[in-house]
Amino acid sequence: MTKFSDLALDPRVLDAVAEAGYETPTPIQAQAIPPALEGRDVLGIAQTGTGKTASFVLPIITRLSQGRARARMPRSLVLAPTRELAAQVAESFDKYAKNTKFTKALLIGGVSFGDQDKAIDRGVDVLIATPGRLLDHHERGKLLLTGVEIMVVDEADRMLDMGFIPDIERIFQLTPARKQTLFFSATMAPEIERITKAFLKDPAKVEVARQATTSTTIEQKLVKFTPTRRDRAFAEKRAALRALIRAEADTLTNAIIFCNRKMDVDVVAKSLKAHGFHAAPIHGDLDQSVRTRTLDSFREGSLTLLVASDVAARGLDIPAVSHVFNFDVPSHPEDYVHRIGRTGRAGRLGKAFTLATPADDKYLGAIESLVKMAIPAGELPEGALDDASDRPEAARGGRGASSGRPGAGRGGSRSRSSHTREDRAEPVAVADEAESEDVVVATPAPRPTRDQRPAPRGEDRQPARDTARDTARESARESARESVRDPVREGGRSGERGNDRPNDRERHRSDRSDRGERVVGLGDHMPDFLTRSFRLTEPATPDPAEGDAPDA
Ligand code: AMP
Repeated sequence: MTKFSDLALDPRVLDAVAEAGYETPTPIQAQAIPPALEGRDVLGIAQTGTGKTASFVLPIITRLSQGRARARMPRSLVLAPTRELAAQVAESFDKYAKNTKFTKALLIGGVSFGDQDKAIDRGVDVLIATPGRLLDHHERGKLLLTGVEIMVVDEADRMLDMGFIPDIERIFQLTPARKQTLFFSATMAPEIERITKAFLKDPAKVEVARQATTSTTIEQKLVKFTPTRRDRAFAEKRAALRALIRAEADTLTNAIIFCNRKMDVDVVAKSLKAHGFHAAPIHGDLDQSVRTRTLDSFREGSLTLLVASDVAARGLDIPAVSHVFNFDVPSHPEDYVHRIGRTGRAGRLGKAFTLATPADDKYLGAIESLVKMAIPAGELPEGALDDASDRPEAARGGRGASSGRPGAGRGGSRSRSSHTREDRAEPVAVADEAESEDVVVATPAPRPTRDQRPAPRGEDRQPARDTARDTARESARESARESVRDPVREGGRSGERGNDRPNDRERHRSDRSDRGERVVGLGDHMPDFLTRSFRLTEPATPDPAEGDAPDA
């Protein structure tokens, strides 16, 4: 079996690896490090959790350990889809380059441009960035990418999900053609394949098996229940979640609770807090400083329950998570794998519970065929739903009381406007009635302050505004993914959302676009003469082949 010492890594890097406690490279490391050290392009098909970060970090430090960085011209570039992942990669560089003079800068949204500019001005060996923020720095003339010798694209499939592919293509074009590219993706969607064909030169293709979807260290349980009423489903799921958490108290040290949508992340976190649990939300609409603080306290153990969206939590390396709860069954089956893979890491035991209602059957089918097993059935603890009040929520009064969510009254205009605003990640009226958990409602989506709103044209070179613009852009991309709606389940919650179902709005929108595409008054067939140009100076010559020539 290959050992790290068999790889031609810089001795100082080898020391750091040993100090980190690693002796044997993971399969992706064993396969990717040798060609990367030779200077070849690498196409790595591997998911997070396989050790892929070190498979590019170690060769970069080794290859760039000689030479010096020039001001504003980073020697290598790592692109990551989210700020948290970028920060995690930066930590990895700190860990493995600690015995060298290797320098780095991290360019992510939500951090002031000034400090980042200073770091780049000094010259760095590696620049770790999210694509939007990188392009903003480049557009401001503060950064030259012509000195990039090695470029890494990490989590390319996630970049695709978040709409970053055009940015990635642009960044490729701004870097020298002769550079080395290390490209990592969990899957090879056609769009990803196209990019790799366009920008990688004869890459060494390394592929590690999909993450152990049914890792033996993870005990999975599917807890199915049928809500007493459709409009009670959300409240009863929250009660079921609380009961499951309480039932696991003996072994639960900490847990990540996944919701499909960020607004549910907020409500579930608030609800848990109101019931005395130590919970906090994390999703793409939250301010970066809040996200960082929340993750730090979860990592260090002062926060027990992290309620998360897929985008915010995917790929994060939090070594010791005892439990994962899927508050919602994910619509993308691979998200199930990512979610449960947050627990049972590094040989530890973990438990993953998935709450499901009959509306989830279709998604469960897709998950079970992906993981090639039926998820073992679990039971709801006795009396689990007892503390989901029997009273219809609408009857309790209070603002937005019908579902425990903002503006969820049946059909009223207030309901509609609240939801619409929420979709745009703007704040809604807060109805915080802590005495009753089902009306605990707050959507702490930050409203941009005056300074944070996108700058008018021509003013966007001002750092403060750029920070906000970039933050808003990144958040919008994360939000776009987090707001993906599921028509089947939306229908199932129609009672909760009143008339504000996205389906209705989407239908209106598509009706409009249908109308726009029609040729009004002429049906689908446009007479040929309408497409011809008219010559006003000379009489048109009839074309015998066309029959009816235009009569100008
Ligand atoms: P990654 O896939 O890069 O997010 O890495 C997942 C986890 O594996 C991180 O906690 C790494 O610190 C850890 N790791 C990386 N390389 C090794 C290794 N060779 N042996 C054991 N664990 C590793």
